[in-house]
Amino acid sequence: MTILSEAMTASLAEHRAWAEELYLDLHRHPELSMQEQRTRTRIAEQLTSFGYAVQEIGGGVVGVLEAGPGPTVLFRADIDGLPVQEATGLPYASTHTQVDAEGTEQPTMHACGHDVHITAGLTAARLLAEHRADWSGTYVALFQPGEEKAAGARAMVEDGLTDKIPAPDVCLGQHVLPAPAAGKVAVSAGPVMSTAASMRVVVHGIGSHGSMPQLSVDPVVLAASIVLRLQTLVARETSPDELAVVTVGSLQAGSAANIIPDRATLLLNLRAYDSGVMEQLISGVERIVRAECEASRSPQPPEIEVRDRFPLTDNDPEVTAAVRRALTEQLGAEHVEEFGRATGSEDFSLVPDAFGAPYCYWGVGGFAEGREVFPNHSPRFAPDLQPTLTIAAEAATSAVLGLLRRTV
Ligand SMILES: [Zn+2]
Ligand SMILES: [Zn+2]
Repeated sequence: MTILSEAMTASLAEHRAWAEELYLDLHRHPELSMQEQRTRTRIAEQLTSFGYAVQEIGGGVVGVLEAGPGPTVLFRADIDGLPVQEATGLPYASTHTQVDAEGTEQPTMHACGHDVHITAGLTAARLLAEHRADWSGTYVALFQPGEEKAAGARAMVEDGLTDKIPAPDVCLGQHVLPAPAAGKVAVSAGPVMSTAASMRVVVHGIGSHGSMPQLSVDPVVLAASIVLRLQTLVARETSPDELAVVTVGSLQAGSAANIIPDRATLLLNLRAYDSGVMEQLISGVERIVRAECEASRSPQPPEIEVRDRFPLTDNDPEVTAAVRRALTEQLGAEHVEEFGRATGSEDFSLVPDAFGAPYCYWGVGGFAEGREVFPNHSPRFAPDLQPTLTIAAEAATSAVLGLLRRTV
């Protein structure tokens, strides 16, 4: 027996063409983080037509459906695209552009598969609305903007999310990924997505002619020392048991061979599986940058800024056990794998954390076994339309039903 009733399974099959059309429309119109106007309107229209009470909150959309006594379950889908020029060669590839917050026109692409998430979220919302006799409680369909910039969940919470919707007892979310294979899902208890932060560091020197280094404080040498010394944060200061990543993704200084510049800018990316380790990395970066500046006779203090902070995604064991049961019942044990620890990061958990609710976040396969795989954010990221859309909708609906099902 599957967790979706026969009638619901029939509706899922009936809505397949509608879901594919919706997906193609979303795929052709990706919007940048915190600029998802069209997407938001499209989602709100659909939720309203299904009978949900709809509100726009912090750039996102929330639909609430009450169906008798019972728990409140929230399912979150993120909705933003990326400033990437699509290179999949698909007939439905995006040619959309959008002017970003800095005023630059950008090509846009759903290179992270959030169009799959929206489609699955709306399909689940539709099935749950059409088959209210199959469950009891309150369902909250939450569509979150700005995940890629770690901005959207925070924006919704700051716009009063906790006062505007019924408090969920449980929150759920999912992401389409290159692994497991299409047709499968992956779920694990405990930490599944790392905490992350980016840092921007500007160090100051004194500029000079390339032939007169004695008159300079060379920020290039200073920045190079910083980059090397930062390697010790993982190698010498973090326990070998802990996961930690410190990457200097950008180092910029100067413009000509014979000019010593007066500043250098470093962009860093940090990952950890423990919030304490993340704090240690951030304070370690600050300490090393300041000490190296002093060692180099830097004429003014460095500017150090922490941005794009992603929290740890740490699945609750009990909720995860319930979700795993539901997914196994619906899809069969051979289609449910372990998630393990992904190195990616998510701002999803800010939503459950705002309510103090436990949560589970799982992965959905998007690429058929043996197919060439391109990772999320690649200009060639192209999940197979099917079975991905159907499995993503089935996974969302069955996980929700597993927590809302009438007990017999
Ligand atoms: Zn992404
Ligand atoms: Zn994503």
